[in-house]
Amino acid sequence: MNLLELQDISKIYGNVKALQNIDLTVRQGEWLAIMGPSGSGKTTMMNIIGCMDKPSNGAVILDGTNISKESAKSLTGIRRDKIGLIFQQFHLISYLTALENVMVAQYYHSMPDEKEALQALERVGLGDRARHLPSQLSGGEQQRVCIARALINYPMLILADEPTGNLDEANEGIVLDIFKQLHKDGSTIVVVTHDPEVAEEAQRTVVLEHGRIARIVENEK
Ligand code: ADP
Ligand code: ADP
Repeated sequence: MNLLELQDISKIYGNVKALQNIDLTVRQGEWLAIMGPSGSGKTTMMNIIGCMDKPSNGAVILDGTNISKESAKSLTGIRRDKIGLIFQQFHLISYLTALENVMVAQYYHSMPDEKEALQALERVGLGDRARHLPSQLSGGEQQRVCIARALINYPMLILADEPTGNLDEANEGIVLDIFKQLHKDGSTIVVVTHDPEVAEEAQRTVVLEHGRIARIVENEK
């Protein structure tokens, strides 16, 4: 089953065509990577897939529903319900503990549940860091808090923007192992990355150039 379909998507800023005539489907349970040089449209595509922006033309079908005509407010609701976002820059709230950062995402969705939030942190190996502030955590640990936060509401899609971009090699390995486990457990993952080692783990890599799909590489997985 297709979880996500981009049907002839274009995004135009003034006279810049950030995306042009993109057709792409993501199957349920698939792990897809998006690569491409700077300015090729990766962020624009991530924002559209993540319900943070709308295409100028074309349709976005998420879980069978055309969401391209939804209002910004309703898109925010869809994002909070259905998508787990992971950013390169972590975006943790500095004065809240790891546990509280996870619970904020619960709050926006339903009711905070400390036990469940703690279990999410345990799932990424951070059970003993729950009461730490982000400043007391390493970059790799902060990114694992972000993963726990993204997972807490059981999103149908995990969308990650350069999730290893700020990490050293050891931490990149830890984060990749978590993604591998999520994939094994049936999660659908879309990851925007510059890192070929990350893209290789995906089943397919979409390469963007000048706002178009230049090629799609099937990885041996
Ligand atoms: P990437 O993430 O691959 O670097 P982007 O999606 O950020 O690419 O950008 C694609 C193109 O769209 C670039 O030419 C960029 O300058 C342009 N662009 C992106 N966002 C905006 C915006 N808000 N206003 C005008 N142009 C934009
Ligand atoms: P606001 O619209 O008030 O800025 P946000 O929607 O950005 O609030 O959400 C508040 C907090 O929850 C932020 O820390 C944000 O990073 C996090 N968050 C929101 N949506 C998601 C999501 N889908 N996945 C992961 N974290 C999220």
